[in-house]
Amino acid sequence: KEELNIIQGALELRSKTVEDVLTPLTDCFMLASDVVLDFNTMSDMMQSGYTRIPVFENERSNIVDVLFVKDLAFVDPDDCTPLKTITQFYKHPLHCVFNDTKLDAMLEEFKKGKSHLAIVQRVNNEGEGDPFYEVMGIVTLEDVIEEIIKSEILDE
Ligand code: ADP
Repeated sequence: KEELNIIQGALELRSKTVEDVLTPLTDCFMLASDVVLDFNTMSDMMQSGYTRIPVFENERSNIVDVLFVKDLAFVDPDDCTPLKTITQFYKHPLHCVFNDTKLDAMLEEFKKGKSHLAIVQRVNNEGEGDPFYEVMGIVTLEDVIEEIIKSEILDE
């Protein structure tokens, strides 16, 4: 039964898209690019439990960086280091994909190992103005794997 589920999940990777499995932007734990890494900010991050945290400028839909919690290994909260100092030092590349990317293609991308988190965007051509790219949320390797095994992976 379990195996059958997994086979079905694997077959569906070709038809499902990242939009089906993403974590919506409103649910993302993120940081504003102009925060300082004081005790409060750092403890909020630790409490969130996430290992990768998108960083936005001015508005949440404008993601400009990703911070890894391990980037904080040498950061002392008493120094009140600006977040920018850290993001500019590590400069993790941002990985963006379109909402219609199929999960099998996404899995291949993640397997290449550059990053296991991608920003999902779509072309918004509703309304009067010119079409624009709109960030919908984030997708990680775990979201794809959960789709294969058809069950939630509980966090440690
Ligand atoms: P982590 O290593 O931080 O636990 P995973 O890659 O294992 O993250 O993803 C676990 C789930 O959490 C996935 O559904 C993913 O979309 C979501 N997720 C990852 N990072 C964040 C974040 N910063 N804010 C909200 N959800 C996130």
